[in-house]
Amino acid sequence: MKQLQKASVDEFKARFRGDVLLPGDAGYDEVRQIWNAMIDRRPALIARCVSPEDVVQAVNFARKHNLLVSIRGGGHNIAGNAVCDDGLMIDLSLMKSVQVDPNTRRATVEPGCTLADFDAAAQAHGQATPLGINSTTGVAGLTLGGGFGWLSRKYGMTVDNLLSAHVVTADGRQVHASETENDDLFWGLRGGGGNFGVVTSFEFQLHPVGPDVLSGLIVFPFVQAKSVLTQFARFAETMPDDLTVWMVTRKAPPLPFLPKDVHGKEIVALALCYAGDTAEGEKLIQPLREFGRAHGEHIGVQPYSAWQQAFDPLLTKGARNYWKSHNFTKLSDGAIDVIVEYAGKLPSPQTEIFVGTLGGQTARLAPGAMAYSSRDAKYVMNVHGRWESAAEDQRCIAWAREFFAKSKPFASAGAYINFLTEEETDRVAFAYGATYKRLVDLKKKYDPTNFFRMNQNIKPV
Ligand SMILES: Cc1cc2nc3c(=O)[nH]c(=O)nc-3n(C[C@H](O)[C@H](O)[C@H](O)COP(=O)(O)OP(=O)(O)OC[C@H]3O[C@@H](n4cnc5c(N)ncnc54)[C@H](O)[C@@H]3O)c2cc1C
Repeated sequence: MKQLQKASVDEFKARFRGDVLLPGDAGYDEVRQIWNAMIDRRPALIARCVSPEDVVQAVNFARKHNLLVSIRGGGHNIAGNAVCDDGLMIDLSLMKSVQVDPNTRRATVEPGCTLADFDAAAQAHGQATPLGINSTTGVAGLTLGGGFGWLSRKYGMTVDNLLSAHVVTADGRQVHASETENDDLFWGLRGGGGNFGVVTSFEFQLHPVGPDVLSGLIVFPFVQAKSVLTQFARFAETMPDDLTVWMVTRKAPPLPFLPKDVHGKEIVALALCYAGDTAEGEKLIQPLREFGRAHGEHIGVQPYSAWQQAFDPLLTKGARNYWKSHNFTKLSDGAIDVIVEYAGKLPSPQTEIFVGTLGGQTARLAPGAMAYSSRDAKYVMNVHGRWESAAEDQRCIAWAREFFAKSKPFASAGAYINFLTEEETDRVAFAYGATYKRLVDLKKKYDPTNFFRMNQNIKPV
């Protein structure tokens, strides 16, 4: 543990409005624990910020004492960069206000908000912006890495809907970034992760959504996997922007609409959301039902915010998780064969392979328009290893790595930085592709000492 003078900590506490937690303090262990139970780190201090001024104090304190800094939004990042050993964890999870202006369709969101917090406030006005598919995820980390979910094909990546941000930079300044102010920083924030400063508020464009949407799941037997995936790949090429269909293969959870003898067996599921007129959506999804003889389906018109929470029970905090991911411009026969092969030997009951679809509006911006550059990624595959006990680590990780290697020949360039694990620092430049050089130049300008380095790090060299 880094030795800090008690007097220095007391002085910091006196200037800080939120709580400062030290090892042994009540709440310290709870706050340092993040979504992925594989990560178990012990910061020297946790600064629980309640205002942008607190963030400035925390950044200045860390710089003065040469402390490693980590930033926690929703604490969901698989790499565990929200928490550091021996340094200062800047915890933003108490900063949770969302202000919606329904007339201008704009929302100002603080960095401790989860997707559920943001969706609830925006849906009160029948509005939303594209976010991810697990409502306990943090808006901050998701946005800074790109962000995609059920509305992205219609309205773009989350970053495509970011209008401006307030940021505390490495030298403790508070700056505003938008297309017209510090536009270089604004370019970098939209995909560059936590490399350029601590964002203390985000301003988003909202769109009319729902409040009810046609959404749900169709579950097919695993023996039909190859056929279902092949048809899914064909269907996804031409589906309209309002429709998003993802493929998930895993062992069936005990869903009430599935026969009991299917529970625990491998299945292939299509998860879908139609963000337009529901009668039109019904017609469009009919072909999906004909991909095979389904075990069952659970599709209906439900509140958008309920669909946003539908997968939460399968994605709770506290399990051990290890991810690997690829982008694809096309889901080729070769990729499908490897997916089916590895889905046939899943290492644990909770492990899943999902293929999310992008395209539509996400593909209409130029790759260099902002730091997020994978505009050609039509599919993002996440190999989501998930299990309960440390004794299973080696076996489950080995399965994910092997599958990742075997599917690599079919993948396209680029990767989604929000899905990279802690050991994938060598994939960061690959993830950004041609925009990486510009990100390095920006890092040199805004963070030349690499003060913010607990992230998918862009090194200022
Ligand atoms: C179950 C699950 C489902 C997911 N589903 C999706 C999905 O559907 N779509 C999708 O796009 N992604 C998805 N993700 C990935 C998600 O986008 C990333 O894990 C993201 O980093 C989570 O953000 P967070 O704020 O919760 O994480 P944190 O771990 O708190 O933050 C991640 C990193 O972001 C940076 N950061 C966070 N807040 C700030 C800030 N205010 N200022 C500067 N830097 C900051 C820091 O570097 C930090 O280490 C999912 C993740 C999980 C665990």
